[in-house]
Amino acid sequence: MRRDWSRRGSGQAGGPESLITPPSYHFPMRLEINGWASKMTFSATHIIPGHYKCGRLHGHDYAINATIDGDIGPDGVIMDFISVKEFLRGIADELDHRVLIPKKDPSVNIQKNSVIYVREGKTFQFPKEDCVLLDLTICSAEELAEFVLKRVLEKVDFPKNVRRIEIGVDEGKGQGAWTGKSF
Ligand SMILES: [Zn+2]
Repeated sequence: MRRDWSRRGSGQAGGPESLITPPSYHFPMRLEINGWASKMTFSATHIIPGHYKCGRLHGHDYAINATIDGDIGPDGVIMDFISVKEFLRGIADELDHRVLIPKKDPSVNIQKNSVIYVREGKTFQFPKEDCVLLDLTICSAEELAEFVLKRVLEKVDFPKNVRRIEIGVDEGKGQGAWTGKSF
């Protein structure tokens, strides 16, 4: 549900000036959602092909973080961010305790019951039910952040006073990749 600030004051007493005069508390603010504190976390396995260390099968504890920049409105908030948290928690649940597979990598061979991934002279074979197939070329924190942002932009309806959303995916505490979109 988008709030349309451009209509604020429409139809009310006070003449045309009330249509263009912003309220005194109309100023930019930032909401921050910390994935670790808000339990938007997941544990997963991945491979970064070609990397001297991360080319070996390994796992991380991940967290999905978000910031929402916008104008605070007459109701004192930018937006009710509970829906954003619930949506991000749903993505974390989808990825939790899975092998992250970048299905756009041509080395990935998806079969009926298994996923075979041949890279750098190594052959990995996973039960398909243990995998999550992502529309990515590599399951780095950077591409995971882009994946989450794309989902958020597709599914979450932000009010018009929201100016920018950023998504960060942490691979362990204190290190992660961020991306964002301005409106
Ligand atoms: Zn890793």
